[in-house]
Amino acid sequence: MTARRLLPRLARARALLEEEGLAALVSFGAADCRYLTGFTGEAIAVVLTGSESILLTDSRFTTQAAHEAPGTKLVICGTGRDDQIPEILSERLREEGDDVSLAGFDFDYLTVKRWEHLRELLDAAGGLKWKLVDGLVQRCRLLKFPDELEALRLAGLMATRAFAYLETIPVVGRSERDVALDLEVFLRRQGSEGVAFPFIVAAGPRGAMPHGAPSTAVIEPEALLVVDVGAVVDGYASDITRTYATGSVGPDLTRAYELVREAQARAVAALRPGVSGREVDGVARSHLEAGGMSDLFVHSLGHGVGLDVHEGPNLSARSDDVLEAGMVVTVEPGVYLPGRAGIRIEDTVVITPGGAEILTEWPRDLRTLS
Ligand code: ZN
Ligand code: ZN
Repeated sequence: MTARRLLPRLARARALLEEEGLAALVSFGAADCRYLTGFTGEAIAVVLTGSESILLTDSRFTTQAAHEAPGTKLVICGTGRDDQIPEILSERLREEGDDVSLAGFDFDYLTVKRWEHLRELLDAAGGLKWKLVDGLVQRCRLLKFPDELEALRLAGLMATRAFAYLETIPVVGRSERDVALDLEVFLRRQGSEGVAFPFIVAAGPRGAMPHGAPSTAVIEPEALLVVDVGAVVDGYASDITRTYATGSVGPDLTRAYELVREAQARAVAALRPGVSGREVDGVARSHLEAGGMSDLFVHSLGHGVGLDVHEGPNLSARSDDVLEAGMVVTVEPGVYLPGRAGIRIEDTVVITPGGAEILTEWPRDLRTLS
């Protein structure tokens, strides 16, 4: 990762440290470590101070870390993985002569066991003041920089190609798992670094499980098929769902599909800076309510997308998150009819000063696969 890409991220994180009265921050999250250093291997932690960022990893990653994170100080740890953290913090804070020697530990990624051990180490080190903080680097990651948007755009485009491909292959009579595997192979051949999440291919009644894993069940004709996939480019994910028909599905399901399609379009049209996650969720939910189906919309409207496929902000009935230009979110209303079918339409979009730009542009009319 070039310094040119890292510097604005580090500056943003340091501004947040200052705001929080912290002299240093320790985060253990893989995406946080990658965000602040460019390192894609297994990090133990990243320590950020006013003048330095320090990556802790182990000897399996010495060469990789030096290559991927050239602007970052590396500490290769032995078996006592976290043991050096108090020492590193005391040393850095002493050198920087900071009066506010308060270190923040991001507890979002810490198990109780790991934190208990760290506390013992901190107590033994003595004199180091610490506090737990919640998702500080995650807050930095909410607003995407241009290089991040570039990767997210490409990941979005790549995922739409999977649907172009899906519409050319036979589906009926094959298992959900087999089709999911085809989509995965296709995306990897397109250059996706992996899958953004385990893909969902759920036919007929199985579609009523919003996160149903592909099974060995055979895809029947005249059913609905929910397909939810995402590509990964430079660590950044995309997330898109389309629901297809495998033949005639009757007026009820066609009507339900249209209702979801309209709810999704209305929610996307409502996206703009200043609107809260709760308000956008409400736009989709009230449209489904008018059609008598809000009870069947059993999850929230959407989530942020970035280095993690599920990150902030949240678009839900309880979310106070306020949208800003540069945030990337999904909009994915769905209705789930137990024993019958599921319908979901999802796009990944970036909030722009004037509204939103869809990163996963692919037709939303009810298409038929054979
Ligand atoms: Zn999805
Ligand atoms: Zn999603």
